[in-house]
Amino acid sequence: MKPLKFKIFLSIFTLSFITNAQNVTYNHILDSTNLEIKKVMKLFEDYLESNRQNREKNSFWNLQEQKEHIKYDFLESEFQPSLYMGFPVHVLSIKSKNGVYQIKAQFGLCQENGEPYVLAIANYFVKKENGSYKLYNALTFNKKEWLSTKVGFVDFYYPKYHEFNYEKAEKLNNFIKDICNDFDVKPKPIEYYLADDFDEIQALKGFDCYIGMGGETKPSGKASDDKVFCGGLGEYYPHEVFHVEIDDHYPNKHYWVSEGMATFLGGSRGKDLHWHLKRTYDYLQKHPEINLNNLLDLVNLDEYTSYHYSLGGLIAKRIYERGGWAMIKEFMNSGKSDNDYYSAIEKYLGIKRSNLNQYLRNQLKAEALK
Ligand SMILES: [Zn+2]
Repeated sequence: MKPLKFKIFLSIFTLSFITNAQNVTYNHILDSTNLEIKKVMKLFEDYLESNRQNREKNSFWNLQEQKEHIKYDFLESEFQPSLYMGFPVHVLSIKSKNGVYQIKAQFGLCQENGEPYVLAIANYFVKKENGSYKLYNALTFNKKEWLSTKVGFVDFYYPKYHEFNYEKAEKLNNFIKDICNDFDVKPKPIEYYLADDFDEIQALKGFDCYIGMGGETKPSGKASDDKVFCGGLGEYYPHEVFHVEIDDHYPNKHYWVSEGMATFLGGSRGKDLHWHLKRTYDYLQKHPEINLNNLLDLVNLDEYTSYHYSLGGLIAKRIYERGGWAMIKEFMNSGKSDNDYYSAIEKYLGIKRSNLNQYLRNQLKAEALK
């Protein structure tokens, strides 16, 4: 899963509200005259106005998390371009317990017709570090409430109701060993958060609500940095694990290469590549007008599959069948632009862009009927 993209949503609004200074307002805040609460409010305002993009040390965020993670604010990359893309911030509440404060803030706006539009409601923690208040990720505090078990390269975190499955945990470790071996990289230790429902994970990370929430509960996952978050599949969600273990080692690749490889090796949303290919085949049979010569213009097929999973996976599979891991490794380093991707298909599969529609429909048929 990629960060939710809001370029489309944003274009609905006039972009005039996007300014560098993040507008902060407050709901009724209890104890707002309290000196300590005032300090916490000021800290949050200062942080929102600070320049996080330069990745330099941020004096409003705790040093410990900054030391451990380049992207120390885990919620920032949940949206594209960023959680801090310019939505006004409305602080809903500030709660305190034993010197630890919890800020609940809404990122949203009021549209011209008066309707509110809420991007997310996010939680932050504030605690003193070396005598002064600093912000912390909600995850750092919330994960203490969960159980954890370490198996091999993976620190698993899960809710108390979950019965830990060692067999699946071993299977995930074997997957890590295999792919790291195939791609000549050293396996790295990762944190793996699992729950029955992805929204439990979102709450753990600090989101009470986020745009895109809702719909039928189905397996869902997300990878970032050295963490995998997934709902609905227990200890074995290999797709996202591919992203955390391999992606950073091959930065010069198109998004479809990454998603295609992750789906080829690890399926997507709990279904293997074959399932996605069958679904895509059935759909495209009914839609002869869709031109796969422009496949990179296609996005979601439906809420269960996307073209970059199914067709991206099919292309990865064919390249593997043709040239094994050696060719796959070249493919993983074939450039980031759309043109690079089309060129890579021509280079490794011998298919020109103008023949892609015919080729992919034929290959889909062959796979779907297997
Ligand atoms: Zn993915």
